[in-house]
Amino acid sequence: MATKKITGLSSETKVLHQGYDPNLSVGSVISPIYPNSTYVFPSAKAGERAFELAFFPERALPGESPSLIYSRMNHPNAEILEDKLVQVEPGAGAAAVFGSGMSAIVTTVLALLNRGTGSHKKTVVYSNPVYGGSDYFFKHNLPTLGGKAVEIETWNHKKTKQLIESLGDEIGMLYLETPANPTLVMTDIDEVAKIAKKANPDCIVVVDNTFLGIFQQPFKIGQLVDVIVYSATKFMSGHAHLIAGVTMVREECKELIQAIKGWRTSFGTIANPQVCWELENSIKMYNLRMNSQAERATKVAKFLSRHPMIERVRHPSLLTEADVDYKIYQRQCTGPGSVITIDLKNPSKEYAFKFLDVLGRDNIIALAVSLGGVESLVEHPASMTHSEVSEQDRAIAQITDATIRFSIGLENPDDLISIISKAFDEIGCS
Ligand code: PLP
Repeated sequence: MATKKITGLSSETKVLHQGYDPNLSVGSVISPIYPNSTYVFPSAKAGERAFELAFFPERALPGESPSLIYSRMNHPNAEILEDKLVQVEPGAGAAAVFGSGMSAIVTTVLALLNRGTGSHKKTVVYSNPVYGGSDYFFKHNLPTLGGKAVEIETWNHKKTKQLIESLGDEIGMLYLETPANPTLVMTDIDEVAKIAKKANPDCIVVVDNTFLGIFQQPFKIGQLVDVIVYSATKFMSGHAHLIAGVTMVREECKELIQAIKGWRTSFGTIANPQVCWELENSIKMYNLRMNSQAERATKVAKFLSRHPMIERVRHPSLLTEADVDYKIYQRQCTGPGSVITIDLKNPSKEYAFKFLDVLGRDNIIALAVSLGGVESLVEHPASMTHSEVSEQDRAIAQITDATIRFSIGLENPDDLISIISKAFDEIGCS
């Protein structure tokens, strides 16, 4: 399909207009939804050519774009969205949309890990902690397919270096989630990527950029990141109204998208037209939402950092020169995001649950997993999002029964502060 390409304007403008051409759809200002499963070929010859280009896009003649065939392979709403998404990640050359963040991650890892090796021996090295579902995939699913994954505590530079060097060219992929879910621990992307690329220049470096989005531009950090994955369910959607995922590849290695989309076709993990359409419209306010949510979260984090019933507050806005992550934050990020993680002074799970039950009672700060939406949420990682992570790994990552994760939305921050304050007053110290 020929989608609209804009040249010479800023990405702020392009994210609104790139991809969709009203002239191709009866003048509708925003794109229509194409819910159909299949597409008509004007001739048998055209059908043959459509399949040829779907599997060998490099055979396209100048100006020739692949035709639509079948909605598990591709559809207009996915194409329009992918063209827009490239605008929100500086340095991106191509994007692929998926039915969830996990399907983006799993499809991408499987497509790229053994690329060109003909073997199933390559290892994924991944940062601990990562989102519970990603951790489960690396630990439990990947080995059943012949793959191997090892964790690294990236804050331990010596150990990280030793482990990657000992793997040598066995390292097929470096997978980093920074800031990490839920601890917000930061990894120096460039430092670890350099070690991995030295051990194996063909190692694919992947960053999960779900948490910081517009505030962290992995393709612009040292030029060593090849792929970025997102749970688009979170900030990209922003309205808790859909599940979706995105993979982007760096301009200089954009041919990797073909392998990823090939596996997406086999798995059938492309996002459906309705979801793509919703996400296409949500992404137009992504920048504004993220900025405003971060501003509100900064105010709430400041309040939490002074509360007597809280042991520790983790939010990048609170980092000082005394913190290990301070320099990484200064170098790598342009804003703090709106996820805040706290540790209560009372270490018991019972106390944390009591706090959550009172806090979530009126559903202004709703007791629910997920994050990034305009409505604030709160959850208990040890028993919810990270319950699949082993107790030992949770201990290493400092996720305890007293750990609570907030996602701050667009409510007035003074209201949020008042609700949190009242919840503490009601439950008292024990
Ligand atoms: N990556 C991160 C950092 C996440 O927090 C999540 C979900 O919470 C995922 C990936 C998985 O995304 P999804 O739930 O859209 O499959």
